[in-house]
Amino acid sequence: MRLSRYFLPVLKETPAEAQIASHRLMLRAGMIKQSAAGIYSWLPLGLKVLKNVENIIHEEQKKAGHLAIMMPTVQSADLWRESGRYEDYGEEMLRFKDRHNRDMLFTPTAEELITDIFRGHINSYKDLPLTMYQIQWKFRDERRPRFGVMRGREFYMKDGYNFDLTKEDAMHAYNRHLVSYLRSYERMGLQAIPMRADSGPIGGEDTHEFLVLAETGESEVFYDNAVTELKFGDRDIDFNNVLQCQSIMEEFTDKYARTDETHDEVAFQEVPEERRQVARGIEVGQIFYFGTKYSEAMGAMVQNSEGQKIPVHMGSHGIGVSRLVGAIIEASHDEKGIIWPEEVTPYHCGIINLKQGDEEADSACESLYNMLSAAGLEPLYDDRNERAGGKFATMDLIGLPWRITVGPRGLKSGLVELTNRRTGKSDEISPEAVIKKLVVQYS
Ligand code: ATP
Ligand code: MG
Repeated sequence: MRLSRYFLPVLKETPAEAQIASHRLMLRAGMIKQSAAGIYSWLPLGLKVLKNVENIIHEEQKKAGHLAIMMPTVQSADLWRESGRYEDYGEEMLRFKDRHNRDMLFTPTAEELITDIFRGHINSYKDLPLTMYQIQWKFRDERRPRFGVMRGREFYMKDGYNFDLTKEDAMHAYNRHLVSYLRSYERMGLQAIPMRADSGPIGGEDTHEFLVLAETGESEVFYDNAVTELKFGDRDIDFNNVLQCQSIMEEFTDKYARTDETHDEVAFQEVPEERRQVARGIEVGQIFYFGTKYSEAMGAMVQNSEGQKIPVHMGSHGIGVSRLVGAIIEASHDEKGIIWPEEVTPYHCGIINLKQGDEEADSACESLYNMLSAAGLEPLYDDRNERAGGKFATMDLIGLPWRITVGPRGLKSGLVELTNRRTGKSDEISPEAVIKKLVVQYS
């Protein structure tokens, strides 16, 4: 992409309404634009990151054997009356009427809708287990939308639903989700710690939230510092292996880690004092097992091998896709701007032409641009006729992991400068060496 043809409405001033770094930086880097309280447009740079995060989640869900679907954002109130949640959900639900005066709503979550799909097609244990998920916009009329995409009213969420014959099978689905979530967050460069939580209006027995530690997080969390040393890493996982998934779940949840809703001071005191931590965190996901709550209310029954009709065991599992973009920035930025982890970066590298219009510099940039593209990488080339200082500031702000600086002086000896955004370290190397290094870096 050439910056001269791009839409990157960078702001020089710090927007007054933005209280936390991610909100400030997303506005300043031209990633989002607010259209109403808690409702945002995603501009080209922001959308690229959102899609990268979404893709990681899709890939990991697919590996876990979960099937992608897409359900509508607008639902009929009737299904919610069946489960009893139409009244229970309260003011966070956006309700409206269609032209025939029927009660409609904008989906805040989709347990009812998926249960309706299930009961319309499945009635035998032979069709189980089944897990389906979607990545779709949700609306919750939050009392205090704030912090940009962190607490929006409209937000992008992955929501998955498992259907199993027994509680045991459903707990395997629970553990499978926990494993796939740990993998997803780590791939985004984040540590998200599973913490025992409260189930809220979704209802249920077992539930964990995933929290990214951050001073600006909205949740108060209490944990044994040993949980921060756990890494998923690149273990081989067989998602059909019940014991393997269960032992990972135990490994990641047996130490004390809870949100304030379930915090138990007596149990916390048993953690050795030097490891006891009270901090803040951003909730980036949650998994639930809620048994037969919806299947009983809505008649989602299956025949077991003895021919009896029993309600199916269910759970639901969410990831805050749009919130994650903010959480990644909270975890990875400095005073100059964002620092994207390589897995989610909107462009692989930036090219800065120090002397736009200089024949040699222009053609060196063009050839770098073409070689990088041919190697399967996406560069963002700042080809505007601007001062070098402004170009550097923009590149630092938008946070691409690598910057290639091209100028007449270096080119005299056939060299360009490759700079790492995170470390600030620069190397003067040949354009060919740049390509080689970046290809390895991103492979
Ligand atoms: P919160 O406690 O932050 O209001 P929640 O527990 O009500 O969230 P869930 O129903 O668990 O939310 O939704 C799944 C995920 O969707 C959450 O873990 C969070 O990452 C994300 N999410 C929920 N509400 C919002 C929101 N208003 N804006 C952005 N993301 C959200
Ligand atoms: Mg939650």
